[in-house]
Amino acid sequence: MTDINWNDYSLETQAIRAGHKRTHEDEHSIPIFATSSYVFKSAEEAALRFTGQKPGNIYSRFTNPTVNAFQERLALMERGERCLAFSSGMAAIMAVGMGLLKAGDHVVCSRGVFGNTVLMFQNYFGKFGVETDFVDLIDATAWEAAIKPNTRFLFLETPSNPLIEIADISVLADIAHKHDCLLIVDNCFCTPVLQKPLELGADIVVHSATKYIDGQGRCVGGAVIASEDIIEKHIYPYLRTGGATMSPFNAWVFLSGLETLAIRIKAHCDSAFELAKWLEQQAGVAKVHYPGLSSHAQHELAKRQQSHFGGIVSFELTGGKEHAWKLIDATEMLSITANLGDVKTTITHPATTTHGRLSPEVRAAAGIKDGLVRVSVGLENIEDIKKDILRGL
Ligand SMILES: *Cc1c(COP(=O)(O)O)cnc(C)c1O
Repeated sequence: MTDINWNDYSLETQAIRAGHKRTHEDEHSIPIFATSSYVFKSAEEAALRFTGQKPGNIYSRFTNPTVNAFQERLALMERGERCLAFSSGMAAIMAVGMGLLKAGDHVVCSRGVFGNTVLMFQNYFGKFGVETDFVDLIDATAWEAAIKPNTRFLFLETPSNPLIEIADISVLADIAHKHDCLLIVDNCFCTPVLQKPLELGADIVVHSATKYIDGQGRCVGGAVIASEDIIEKHIYPYLRTGGATMSPFNAWVFLSGLETLAIRIKAHCDSAFELAKWLEQQAGVAKVHYPGLSSHAQHELAKRQQSHFGGIVSFELTGGKEHAWKLIDATEMLSITANLGDVKTTITHPATTTHGRLSPEVRAAAGIKDGLVRVSVGLENIEDIKKDILRGL
């Protein structure tokens, strides 16, 4: 089983079978290796493992068989050479910054990224002398204009949250490489099932495994996928020292999450598309943001870059904040929570939650209106989801 070259297999098969190195117990399902350290056969072997001359586990802060299996599987699915798992999506983003940046460096980041990612770059890397400029995700000219001689990397999420705007990864990869920068893509919304940024020219992919990879809202985790060279030189040494390690239990949950990822994502996308089309017909809905709709500004790009349109739908109500809150409060089944990528449908009012810390001006500039509602479409029956939203429409 360990001799199979999983690169020859498709994503759905890799997701179920790759990464597990069966032990002497012949187990069928992958075990949780609940061990913090590993034993060496001799003092010499210990020394060789510590210097890296001999492969093998030393300590679970940096290698653990269950975590390794998750890493191998996700690296294959993202078509990357290597993956490292972290304790959360934010820990993965932190590791990329800690591994690659030094005082005096500069970063260009898209404006619509996850709120804590903004704070990470602004407040924490900023504190140590790294400057970050934020640009409009879909404006390639603005990206290029923001690059300086000391720019180390460009960082983006596509599709964006909560407006589901889509950036052309190949175009931005070319711009980054022309200026000797790396392109980093947070692939949380699409997962490798819908889009593989490394194949489109990105250098590093980061993940919050907490969302679709888990898929059932249980564990917090993250990952970084990149070339052997980037991981070995910049990310692995930081993981070993920084210690934001994924626990073997969480890796085991995420491994089973990956096994059903492709079929879950397809079902999420089908329901989200249907909900988006239905919402467009409803009175009181001013605009629906969903890349599957021909009304979406990057519909053609979405068709080209993604294999489906994703599980998140946002829509603007004509009645502003009052109507948005009324609609959210009128639901009886949907979960009022900011989490996403769950089998349970979740509903959020971005202007007063995920984007509530932004000033009204910044929020307006980002296009996040008071009447905007975001739905992460789950796997309940779509008619029940529609019925629940209809209560407050
Ligand atoms: C949730 C999220 C993160 C952070 O991940 P955690 O696992 O919550 O730390 C980063 N990026 C995106 C796009 C997210 O949705």
